Amino acid sequence: MEDDVFLVRFWGVRGSISVSGPEFSRYGGNTICIEMRCGKHTLLFDAGSGLRPAGRALRASGVTDFDLLFTHCHYDHIIGLPFFVPIYDRSVKVTLWSGHLAGRMTTRQMVDEFMRPPWFPVKLDVCKASLDCRDFVSGDVLRPREGVVVQTGSLVHPGGCIGYRVEWGGRVVAMITDTEHEPDKLDRAVLGLIEDADLVIYDCTYTEGEMERHRGDGHSTWQQGAKLCEAAGARGLALFHHDPTRTDRELDEIEKLAKDRFAGAFAAREGQTLKFPVSLHKKR
Ligand SMILES: [Zn+2]
Ligand SMILES: [Zn+2]
Repeated sequence: MEDDVFLVRFWGVRGSISVSGPEFSRYGGNTICIEMRCGKHTLLFDAGSGLRPAGRALRASGVTDFDLLFTHCHYDHIIGLPFFVPIYDRSVKVTLWSGHLAGRMTTRQMVDEFMRPPWFPVKLDVCKASLDCRDFVSGDVLRPREGVVVQTGSLVHPGGCIGYRVEWGGRVVAMITDTEHEPDKLDRAVLGLIEDADLVIYDCTYTEGEMERHRGDGHSTWQQGAKLCEAAGARGLALFHHDPTRTDRELDEIEKLAKDRFAGAFAAREGQTLKFPVSLHKKR
């Protein structure tokens, strides 16, 4: 493990539902799961179907103590949880975090509700791992591991959603999904979370041309992502939460347009890894 690198790995970049087929093979079909490694600390964001391969990789590399933070619990962000092998391993300790249901449901209740008959054959109590469930309120600043600071904020999405800003070793990576923007307006909460970020992982389900038909669905566009990054002085923009109908060729075209508009933009692919070297003497 590299101690002086902030690593980001995309395990699932597809929104709404997983897809398969040759037309999706390059960008991938698994739903949302992002891994961030801050030196020796591992944080996972969301438990879409991409969590399944992430779990196998964690097991292979011997990582047994890590955090899993939920943005919200729509199926595309949670469906991988029952198939995440580390939770069945008694040597594993996972800290689960959520804040989008604050005051309505705890993280423990959310996971219990999801993993039980008749929706799943067994209950959460078959999990042998130690599951430490934590609740927070949007706006809280989390310190899940030594030196790792996670700022939280509310996004615009039916049922609520949390955006995260992860700071470690002088680097900043923000995860902004799922969220809907208002036309010609920059969301102040999002701007705060992505300010001066090295990388912004942003909900680019639609294009501006498609947006009118999808008002109220709670998603955004690459054009809006570019505007936000420009205004916030962010350097990298990962387009993700790709619409399930979007083929590799279409995503190539979108990536090209996005790059022309904002040089740091790219369409995230499943399996892609980015590394940001850090100076461990410099702390934010
Ligand atoms: Zn989603
Ligand atoms: Zn959602």
